[in-house]
Amino acid sequence: MNSARIKENLDYSMPWKDQLNNFVNSIEQLEQYIHLTDEERAVLESNKTKWGTTPYFASLMDVDDPDCPLRRQVIPSRLEQQNTFGMNDYLLWKENRSTEEVRPDSIARQYRDRVAFTVTQACGIYCRHCFRKELVVDGDLQLDFNVDEGLQWIAEHNEVRDVLITGGDPFLLPDEQLEYLICKLREMPHVEMIRFGTRTPIVLPQRIDSGLMKVLGGYHRVPIWINTQCNHPNEITETTSRAVFKLLSSGIQVGNQAVLLKGINDDVETFRTLHQKLLTVRIKPYYVFYCEAAPGIDHFRTPVEKGAELIRDALRGHTTGLAQPMHVVATNIGKIPLMPDYYISAKDKQEYTLRNHKGEVTTIPNVP
Ligand SMILES: *Cc1c(COP(=O)(O)O)cnc(C)c1O
Ligand code: SF4
Repeated sequence: MNSARIKENLDYSMPWKDQLNNFVNSIEQLEQYIHLTDEERAVLESNKTKWGTTPYFASLMDVDDPDCPLRRQVIPSRLEQQNTFGMNDYLLWKENRSTEEVRPDSIARQYRDRVAFTVTQACGIYCRHCFRKELVVDGDLQLDFNVDEGLQWIAEHNEVRDVLITGGDPFLLPDEQLEYLICKLREMPHVEMIRFGTRTPIVLPQRIDSGLMKVLGGYHRVPIWINTQCNHPNEITETTSRAVFKLLSSGIQVGNQAVLLKGINDDVETFRTLHQKLLTVRIKPYYVFYCEAAPGIDHFRTPVEKGAELIRDALRGHTTGLAQPMHVVATNIGKIPLMPDYYISAKDKQEYTLRNHKGEVTTIPNVP
């Protein structure tokens, strides 16, 4: 349970730029929100990676519990120094940068009809489990995010109908830059949809303000879709709910891409509550990602089977179909679904025998 915040004067309504100006990324600032353990303090003192989050998100952390699921996403751990199962140069492999096709640094491609367009490496939280941590958190990898170069490449590839703008967090860009990006993409006749991947509805809901709504909102031939990342029910607040409502009211769908994280959301109870609670604030579960093989995040990773087991035991049949995400492993050759497969218990020429979530079976005629 969350006890009272230590510092009470950090209003949830603090505008987004002030949230960023007061970014919580020093021991002194963190201590305004939580009581640090000696271990956390020692790791922070020797930490050389980027870390931190907004005052808003910091205020949602548990004051005393170092195992708080939000706290573990924010505060570096000693375990990040270990790497048994992670791949070196993970991002270069994952984003397919070593293929023959010549692309700007900002364009990652795994599919014919859609690309990921990286426009910034700044975030409203530097997630300890980030699969882009080499770029975003550790700063080992340097890429050039020349937006015009990326736009030019997309303009020349008319097979690309779907552009996913990502980062970092693209909603940390100023309104004018987002407007520029959207206008340029909408001028391209082959672009049918624009998507943003942003954690702001969860870590910086104040970003969804009237200025941003002017840029994003309203009817247009080319729709805007958003996917956010919420990993635990404690990340969901009234402030998030209102931000999502604003987006939906302006015609923008909001989905969720959770990351399956050991000790954070990998138990049946938390997993089900997360997906049900997302619907209560009008966010549609889209994906659950297997925690990727980036270096230094072994301690967040579950066995590969876990995601399908959780969907089987917590969601399928146990709650509404609207709450069902697809569990996928993101790889260099695209996202690969790993889902439960208990449904067909037998089939022959005459009939299919189907099993439900309770283990009951029924039959339907087989159509050759
Ligand atoms: C995830 C991703 C996409 C989008 O995939 P969807 O399944 O359409 O959401 C596109 N390109 C790349 C490189 C990606 O990693
Ligand atoms: S917000 Fe996204 S890009 Fe930024 S650190 Fe978190 S997971 Fe990585």
